[in-house]
Amino acid sequence: MKKLKVFLRVVSIFAVVFILFQNAAAQSRIDRILISEAKRITNDTFPVFSETPQGARVYSVNQPDFKMLKAIDDGLAELFAVARKHQYRNRLNYSDYTIFIAKADRTKDGNGQYSPDIAVAAAQYAGTVYDQGGYIYAAGMVLAKNPCAFVIAEHTKDFQRAADVARYEGEHLVLYHNDRKLFNKTADHSQGGGHPILR
Ligand SMILES: [Zn+2]
Repeated sequence: MKKLKVFLRVVSIFAVVFILFQNAAAQSRIDRILISEAKRITNDTFPVFSETPQGARVYSVNQPDFKMLKAIDDGLAELFAVARKHQYRNRLNYSDYTIFIAKADRTKDGNGQYSPDIAVAAAQYAGTVYDQGGYIYAAGMVLAKNPCAFVIAEHTKDFQRAADVARYEGEHLVLYHNDRKLFNKTADHSQGGGHPILR
């Protein structure tokens, strides 16, 4: 009897180890795809992995300021609250989100205001007011819809802005998973429209 118990315990430990190993392997494969997409868009590398206090996943160019991690949580908290108000249920967990913190390609906008942004290929924004000659400056950008991932620029101050950017980029993803029609209508800002979409 005692022997059997020990045997079962060993089996269950093996099972747990196996499941953890499977998850880790699957996760890193998906993460590798996300990281290469983030690299392609920003020309940055993302060697640092961390988690926000609430459990959102973060890859960053540098060790992130705690205030930056807190800002991501604050932005997502506001987003989840407004999403629940709209009876949305999907992807309202912090751990559903992977956020890339990229190097800011500029820190001031055209008016001299602090505005850490990333330069990305103009694509559908070519020829619009956003076009800076083949690229646009974006505060943030959706990287992948499933799993949910977006990139924002590194902030060293005005963390409220970082929270807003997290809320706004997350907003596209929440809409994608909860209201596809509204997502399609609001995904492309070159046709006008901005954030917040949900109030
Ligand atoms: Zn947007």
